Amino acid sequence: MTVLEHYLHLFARLRRAPGPTWGPSTKRRAPHKPLLLLSILDLVARGTLTSGFIDITGDLSELNELFTGYWRRVVPLEQKSSIAFPFSRLHNESFWKLMPVPGREITPATLNSISTVLQLRGVAMGARMDEELFLQMQSVDGRSALRHVLLQSFFTEPALAALAEEVAIHDRAFEYGLGLLEQVREPVVRDPGESESLPEAVRNQGFRRAVVSTYDHRCALCGVRILTSEGYTAVDAAHIIPWKISHNDDVRNGMALCKLCHWSFDKGMLGVAGDYTVLASRQIRSDPNVPGLLLTLVGRAILPPADRSLWPAQESLGWHRWQFRLSD
Ligand SMILES: [Zn+2]
Repeated sequence: MTVLEHYLHLFARLRRAPGPTWGPSTKRRAPHKPLLLLSILDLVARGTLTSGFIDITGDLSELNELFTGYWRRVVPLEQKSSIAFPFSRLHNESFWKLMPVPGREITPATLNSISTVLQLRGVAMGARMDEELFLQMQSVDGRSALRHVLLQSFFTEPALAALAEEVAIHDRAFEYGLGLLEQVREPVVRDPGESESLPEAVRNQGFRRAVVSTYDHRCALCGVRILTSEGYTAVDAAHIIPWKISHNDDVRNGMALCKLCHWSFDKGMLGVAGDYTVLASRQIRSDPNVPGLLLTLVGRAILPPADRSLWPAQESLGWHRWQFRLSD
């Protein structure tokens, strides 16, 4: 048996809890472990995970977004899960070991008590995969074989097909997002039909990743930055000139905005002036029912990306001011 065959064998036999909530598409067992491993394979493919140690003490937004993408494909909408659940239970598989925080011991009882990332962080710093397994994951063929066995072993059609489609979306969205950042540095003449021909899910995910990482999860208008321990962020990637008008996913036609600022910007209640300070509409300034929070932002400098070349384009901001008749 080759090393790869050894791990394919282990992957095909992941222990998964049975339960009445799990339908035929997940073979009536919990899908958490295979979905987390698919997400880990994505991180290796992206070059985000560069060793067999998976740190859980930092920003988990990317791992969470990948896991949630898979999860939503096969689990009813109302059912939620934390990545902490499979992350901890994989400790029972021979290739995955939690690294305890100093002074803590990993026992079956501690494992079973973990259902959130905060609880997981109280026990472990992260997990270490077998180095040989990580090496297999680093090759395109190894990843492809490992993904194949995860999909085939634990899912039936149409869940299997939906997950395979999600794998492809994650791959293409990552490439698309990288391309959006690269085009700022090295402007290339692009086929204008290139973005249009991509599936919406690929564009959305790629644009979102590029913009949110550029702003490091901080709202450009009010400065709020909330990244939960589970890896959920308070910000959206907002288009300045909407996609349906501009067909422009350039990061300079985007800003990371929290839900309230996103809505206010899209409705023309807030805007950005030529000197990159926050503008408010006449309505917001005169309407006594509008809460004061937004008005406190007026005249304040926005919180742009650290890299000046990635700042929002005045061309786009000017279009938005013109559209909503916003002026200083
Ligand atoms: Zn905001």
